Amino acid sequence: MNVLVINCGSSSLKYQLIDSESEKVLAKGLCERIGIDGRLTYQKAGLDKEITEAPMPTHKEAIKMVLDALTNDKTGAIKSLDEVGAVGHRMVHGGEKFTCSAVIDDEMIKAVESCNDLAPLHNPANLIGVNACKELMPNVPMVGVFDTAFHQTMPKKAYLYGLPYEYYEKYGVRRYGFHGTSHSFVSKETAKFLGLDLENSKIIVAHLGNGASISAVKNGKCVDTSMGLTPLAGLVMGTRCGDIDPAIMEYIAKKEDLDIAGVMNVLNKKSGVQGISGVSSDFRDLEDGMTAGNERCADAIEVFCYNVAKFIGAYAAAMNGVDAIAFTAGIGENGPIVREKVLEYLGYLGAELDPEANQKRGDNNVISTPDSKVKVCVVPTNEELAICRDTVALVK
Ligand code: ADP
Repeated sequence: MNVLVINCGSSSLKYQLIDSESEKVLAKGLCERIGIDGRLTYQKAGLDKEITEAPMPTHKEAIKMVLDALTNDKTGAIKSLDEVGAVGHRMVHGGEKFTCSAVIDDEMIKAVESCNDLAPLHNPANLIGVNACKELMPNVPMVGVFDTAFHQTMPKKAYLYGLPYEYYEKYGVRRYGFHGTSHSFVSKETAKFLGLDLENSKIIVAHLGNGASISAVKNGKCVDTSMGLTPLAGLVMGTRCGDIDPAIMEYIAKKEDLDIAGVMNVLNKKSGVQGISGVSSDFRDLEDGMTAGNERCADAIEVFCYNVAKFIGAYAAAMNGVDAIAFTAGIGENGPIVREKVLEYLGYLGAELDPEANQKRGDNNVISTPDSKVKVCVVPTNEELAICRDTVALVK
């Protein structure tokens, strides 16, 4: 079956058409600047990218352009839309309502809408994509795959904050966690790749991208994760601050004469390694800066790696041990310097880096020595494939 995977943001939309049997990507691309002017990038497997500038006042026009490109006579990946068996939508926040992926129907949409307050920027955008697909392909089954669902197995002690309990009851204030599709995919791949029994394993997944989070996965189930009510919590990230003393918010607000929206803007967009370095949120720039002697770039990298190592230590404690640590996402997959620096803190766990293996790129790769007590590896994430697999499982 061909599955169209859609990841719909407020002004952009990423897509992949995947053949679920071979798990090959038939075509992929993105729509940008929706509601502004509009630009479609389309790439059929094996061919060059095509870029088309055309008005996309709403997501409906954007998705219509994607469907036209997919069925285009010359470079289309399929002959007609009849060849799309299902659509899988990435959904950001399922609150406590969704513990796994779900077939999209009217009732399901209402349940997602009831979580909108928890992700006011993301959930409404996800639903715009769902509605646009429904209009254009009314008979194709659709599935929603949630960023939060994998983390719903966390015990209460991991998800409750030290706040008045009524905020949890009345407003759902608790830790939810994000990147769940990636943490689920990578933990399963890690167990498979290392020959571990998933049902009897302790795996820590470090998803280190522009947004970064860590999770503790015990016996295949998430028991803790670093992001919280929102994706602002946990690790120091590209531009997000991660965990800080909450009293800093009032202090900055007074000093800088900012309201709550102004402070949130700083914490989300001007902090993290960007804020520390004053140079960039991208680790390639930070590494170049460090090599050139820029002290703040070096500081940003050190703070990031120290934070990652502290979370790994915390999760080894939470699980009373760890069998494997998996690095994934942009920095986790491509950043040997970061991996090396993190591993320097983990000698007490018996984790030993193989420096040569750490330099390799590409597929699943063990980067610890054969004697290392903890297996450390790089396992590329593939959220689209995970969405495709869940979609097929639910519509078959
Ligand atoms: P997101 O999906 O959260 O936007 P990604 O998982 O794509 O993020 O990761 C993007 C980050 O990966 C970039 O900001 C950059 O810091 C990092 N990255 C990509 N390639 C490299 C590389 N070769 N070396 C170090 N860092 C890299």
